[in-house]
Amino acid sequence: MTLFESLGALATASGEGAVDWDAVSAAARASTDAGALDVGPAERAGFADMSDEESIRYCEGVFAPDLAGHGLFGNNSFWRTFPIVHNERWFADNVVLIGDALRTAHFSLGSGTRLAMEDGIALARALREAAYEVPAAFVRFEEIRRAPMETLFRAANASLRWYEEMGERMHLAPYDFAHAYMVRTGRVSDDKLARVAPRFMERYRAQGEA
Ligand SMILES: Cc1cc2nc3c(=O)[nH]c(=O)nc-3n(C[C@H](O)[C@H](O)[C@H](O)COP(=O)(O)OP(=O)(O)OC[C@H]3O[C@@H](n4cnc5c(N)ncnc54)[C@H](O)[C@@H]3O)c2cc1C
Repeated sequence: MTLFESLGALATASGEGAVDWDAVSAAARASTDAGALDVGPAERAGFADMSDEESIRYCEGVFAPDLAGHGLFGNNSFWRTFPIVHNERWFADNVVLIGDALRTAHFSLGSGTRLAMEDGIALARALREAAYEVPAAFVRFEEIRRAPMETLFRAANASLRWYEEMGERMHLAPYDFAHAYMVRTGRVSDDKLARVAPRFMERYRAQGEA
């Protein structure tokens, strides 16, 4: 059964600390999920020593009330520490970096694939504009991409930090927690939230006044 009809996020306090579960409806009978633990809980729960199967069972236990009797299953699932990649130099000789090799964007932003594809499109455009002169095209590629890329990189790192510090926010009331999550990158203002999610903002503000 699909538990999540649209993008959903669960955050819960386990014995070891805060655990987050982001879920996207993927198919008629399943949702695809990515779990996040901050470093402290991950170490305390002993993830480094668990098999993939054991870590899946651990998460099933943490989210048992939300899974309502359903199970989790793996799909090449493994735990990893997110690697932050950022390069000052984008190219050398006839080699240019694009996508994750150029820079990573924490997966909580959901933009890594888009960035990689936009890099490819910009590189094709730069090559055309420079009449396929490789050195000039690489310079043009960097001109096109550096500003938007740096903006997203900062947002992605703000999101990554938010996840790493999630345990400190577990005491918040649900709407305060959800609001902190929505504005975590600094790119979404209360005004924007009121436009795109008016019912949510009404409830969030009403809770603040109660
Ligand atoms: C858990 C998780 C969830 C994510 N969720 C999202 C999401 O919801 N939305 C989103 O937009 N992005 C998401 N991302 C990020 C997204 O997957 C990456 O940003 C994107 O795949 C980057 O594309 P890429 O082509 O640069 O690199 P990759 O997709 O990593 O492709 C690089 C390819 O090069 C191959 N390769 C490596 N070394 C060599 C070699 N020496 N020779 C030949 N081939 C080689 C690799 O095998 C791989 O196939 C997520 C990432 C993770 C880990």
